[in-house]
Amino acid sequence: MAIAEAVKTYQNYIGGEWRDAENGATLEIHDPGNGELVYRAPNSPVEDAGRAVDAAKYAAENTDWGDNPHARATALYKLAQALRSSTDWLAPLLTREGGKPLSVSRAEVLRASDAIEYYAGLARNVYGRSTMLAPDSLAILLREPIGVVSIIVPWNMALSLLTRSLAPALAAGNAVIIKPSSVTPGATAEFVAMIDAIPEFPRGVVNLVVGPGSTTGAELVRHPDVDMVAFTGDTGTGKEIMRMAADTLKKVGLELGGKSPNIVFADADFDRAVRGALNGASMFHAGQVCIAGSRVLVEESIHDRFVDKLAELTKRMRLGHGLQEGVQAGPVINEGQLNRVMGYIEVGKSEAELLTGGQRATEGELAKGFFIQPTIFDRVPVNATIAQDEIFGPVLSVLTFRDEEDAAEVANSTVYGLAAAVWTSDITRALRVAKKVKSGLVWVNTFGKLFAAGEMGGYKQSGIGRQYGLEGLWEYTEMKHINVQL
Ligand code: NAD
Repeated sequence: MAIAEAVKTYQNYIGGEWRDAENGATLEIHDPGNGELVYRAPNSPVEDAGRAVDAAKYAAENTDWGDNPHARATALYKLAQALRSSTDWLAPLLTREGGKPLSVSRAEVLRASDAIEYYAGLARNVYGRSTMLAPDSLAILLREPIGVVSIIVPWNMALSLLTRSLAPALAAGNAVIIKPSSVTPGATAEFVAMIDAIPEFPRGVVNLVVGPGSTTGAELVRHPDVDMVAFTGDTGTGKEIMRMAADTLKKVGLELGGKSPNIVFADADFDRAVRGALNGASMFHAGQVCIAGSRVLVEESIHDRFVDKLAELTKRMRLGHGLQEGVQAGPVINEGQLNRVMGYIEVGKSEAELLTGGQRATEGELAKGFFIQPTIFDRVPVNATIAQDEIFGPVLSVLTFRDEEDAAEVANSTVYGLAAAVWTSDITRALRVAKKVKSGLVWVNTFGKLFAAGEMGGYKQSGIGRQYGLEGLWEYTEMKHINVQL
């Protein structure tokens, strides 16, 4: 990687070589917390996507990566260790490019290395099955790599969302092309440099192309030599990707948007539930988390007490640049997102009661970044825009319900189904409601806990396929039946 004065310029990584974009174009990445230039990255045209696909295809067909689980396990273990030991210098870069507080970035690096380590363990366990289908017929069911996988990633949790797809794809023996968001490609490029330094990764097994989604990203979907697209991002983009993938009938894994309900019954541990609602809303990352509990559903009988406490805790949150000590909430990612979120807040003011926040935060140093006050709307009608759309900003909607039936109905009233939580001291009620909620992940008396070994994924328009766990590994395999006449 070239270093231009104090500001780094990252490059693409194709076939084991670092290269500028074919046309030499670069992007400037600015810190959303203070506007400073952080680094430059390539703004690659579609030709670079094509080259990366060629390199991945060559590696998939001409190296023993797909048939050498021991090498894959060793490579992934080394990568997990390299990533974990980089936490102290890599987490600040995640904060500078993405805005989240340093503690959140540190946790992200550790979650990413944990996922890689988990799949390193599974790399030697990509077992199929075998059985007798008739007295003279043996079936050998082999799990094989799919081939070339494009991994397309959003900006909000650049490393943990990348590794959630990358680690199982590599453990299963595939070759990949990584397309990070053009908004946050730096930490990803640093991570790919760690891969470059590990000799067990054959050249071309991992490639990196930074460029616009609508052109370079689309090429990584359309290209006939790409066998699967693992996409994490907006639901609208996910639909477009599915349409493009239809032309070559390739497999798609889609992890999309959410509008997760946090359902609080009157018998819940009150203080824990209030803190869970605030934490679940992901105000720490200005609400820019796919699983964010952006709707809190409160049982009518505790509503007043609940919203009083919630507003009190929210007002105390300290906004600021993520590298500053004691900061609890960062900025939104850029001006476009700021305007989009402020637009939703204006809509919310006409739909519900503003409990707290509702303004851009511009005091002192905050004026240099894209900060929005953590905002809560109360008495939000089920069909209000702010109760239905994924705002991806620090905006929480409080709704009420009467009973279990009503709670599940309100919870299921959006097109999304990514995550949910139920807060109650009655475990049988918790399980009844968890069963009724149409969502890939339901927490009971907690919110937001993710485990490399615990599956997650979307119901409804939140996605297709599963991430993490064994199911997350099988996504990246094809099943071949070899039938033997005895
Ligand atoms: P986005 O859909 O705009 O972009 C995601 C990625 O897709 C980027 O790398 C982008 O360059 C690329 N892209 C855009 N258009 C493309 C196209 N036509 N073809 C190929 N690639 C294209 O999403 P974003 O704004 O970066 O991220 C925010 C969204 O991601 C939110 O909706 C959020 O809920 C979602 N998300 C979902 C999960 C999950 O696990 N379900 C996790 C994080 C974020």
